[in-house]
Order: sequence, then structure tokens, then C-alpha cells
Amino acid sequence: MEKIIEMENFIKNSDLWERMYDAVRVVDPVKKIPYMLKDNRLEENEDSCYSFWKQNTICANCISMRAFNEEETYVKIEFNGKKVYLVTAVPLLTDKGKMVAEFLQDVTDKGIIEGIDLDNAAEVYQKINRLNDMLVKDELTGVYNRRFIKERLDVEIFRAVTYAKPLAVIMADIDFFKKVNDTYGHMAGDEVLKKFARILQENVRGQEDWVARYGGEEFIICLPNTGKDGAFTTAERIRKEVAEAVVSYKEQEIRITASFGIAVLEGETLTGDDLIRKADENLYKAKNAGRNRVVCC
Ligand code: GH3
Ligand code: MG
Ligand code: MG
Repeated sequence: MEKIIEMENFIKNSDLWERMYDAVRVVDPVKKIPYMLKDNRLEENEDSCYSFWKQNTICANCISMRAFNEEETYVKIEFNGKKVYLVTAVPLLTDKGKMVAEFLQDVTDKGIIEGIDLDNAAEVYQKINRLNDMLVKDELTGVYNRRFIKERLDVEIFRAVTYAKPLAVIMADIDFFKKVNDTYGHMAGDEVLKKFARILQENVRGQEDWVARYGGEEFIICLPNTGKDGAFTTAERIRKEVAEAVVSYKEQEIRITASFGIAVLEGETLTGDDLIRKADENLYKAKNAGRNRVVCC
């Protein structure tokens, strides 16, 4: 298959797709709109692309966004409550701009996941979500990884702009973390990172907000539908909790502080990279002003 399919060729081969796959659809991965391929035509669907999977949230491991960003083909396994599908996402060039073609193959009886009991939907979802999470979660801390930021932040921006809601990004960085490693060792440093990530995660709203490790000891907190005041309050709450926390490691008690930079999108057009850059600039200001503080826009 070509790296990027042209719409014309995609439609021309639609008979073939319909014979080869159990379902074929085109997805706009930023807007999350699906179009179904039926009788050689694309039909716009009222649902979101992820409602096919009977989940009411965006897939954490969105391979269509990955295919869209990287202009490469990606594959994953999904479950819709009844059947297990192998999903192949291929970038597609349409007259409406770049989109993604998703080819779905029913692999329910192919034994792809060992020992699944299809009647126990909760268990299947759990197993498949665990597989999908492996690609978008940070192994050490369990929060999302940098790939997830790249795939989700632009979607959050699109939603914020569409629904005219603010969107806040907090960049959090542990102060003098190198000294923690130098004083207590790398393993102790890892424990501190885990505790820090847990504090971040525990201080955000479960459904909408998310936390991701940007790199080393830097984390991003994304707060949809949140303006400057809400973001500042959240960051201050986290800052205080971090400063009060004690990490016990091999009879040593480790204390840390952290600095925070906030960027808020409210009405203007910014990309994910712009937002992160702004948050990073404010983080830099927080460091220069003496650390253990929050700097907002
Ligand atoms: P600042 O207050 O300016 O942020 O100083 P800092 O020491 O925190 O920042 P710096 O960037 O100099 O050091 C970050 C350290 O984080 C250096 C690196 O070895 C450590 N680090 C990065 N990833 C990991 C990890 O996964 N585990 C551990 N233990 N350390 C890590
Ligand atoms: Mg640091
Ligand atoms: Mg750093």
C-alpha cells in the first residue's frame, strides 16, 4: 500500500476494500468525525469516531492521529463490546485536506489475545486497553507519555476553540532534581518521580484532565475548560502538596519542591507547540524567581 493514499484511488478500490475488510471508514482525527464507505461513497456519520468502540471518551491510543501526524500506517486492536477488530490507519489525501482511512478486520476468532472470554466485555476492554495503554503511557510513572501529548493536545485545542472554552496547560518541573540523584542515587530519584507523578494525577479531575511526562522530571498537566484562575489554583495546590510530601527510600526521607509555568488558550489561535512553549517560558521565569513557585501568563 502507498504511504499516503489519494482519495481518487481510495474510492476507485472501494469494492476491493469492502471485500477485504469488515468495515472501512475515513476519519478526521482532529475533529473526530467518521465517514463510512458504502456503495463507493463516503457517508458522514453523526457519531464521533470513538463511539464505534462503545466508549464515550477519545481512544487514548489514537492511531489515526498518529498516522495523520507521522504520515505512516499504524495498526492496533480494538473491541466494540462484541467483536475484536484489527484496525489499520493509513493517511489519506482528500479534497478536504489530509484525513485517515481506517480498515477494520474482525479478528474475534483469530486468537490474537490469549484466553479472552468474549462474554465478559469488561474483561476484554480491560485487556485491550492495557495493550493500547502500553504505547501511550510512561513505564516508570504510569502517566501518559510524550507521544500522547503530541496526539492529544491539538485535539484539545480544536475542542476548546470549537466550543469557545478556555484550555490550560501547566508545565511542572522538579527543582534541583539532579541533586536528588546525586545525593540519594538514581533509584531513589525514580521513587521521587513516581511520587511526584502521583501527586499531579491526584490533583486533577479524573474525566477530562490528563497528566503526561514530557521528559526527565518535566510533566505536562492539561486542563480543558479551565482558565487562568482555575489553572493557578490547581498549580498552587500541587506546589504546596509537593513541598509537604516526604518520599521514604531505604530509611532516608527525601523532600523536594517543584516549579510551575502556566499557559492558557482563551480565544486566540495557538498550536500545541505554542502552548507548551509559553508554559515553558513561564516555568523558566519561576525557576529564575527562586523556584518552588507558580508563574501564570
Ligand atoms: P532545575 O531546578 O533547574 O530544574 O534543576 P534540575 O537539577 O532539576 O534540572 P536538570 O535538568 O539539571 O536535571 C534533571 C535531572 O533529571 C538530570 C537527569 O539525570 C535526571 N533524570 C531524568 N530522567 C530521569 C529518570 O528517569 N530517573 C532519574 N532518577 N533521574 C532522571
Ligand atoms: Mg528540574
Ligand atoms: Mg527539567
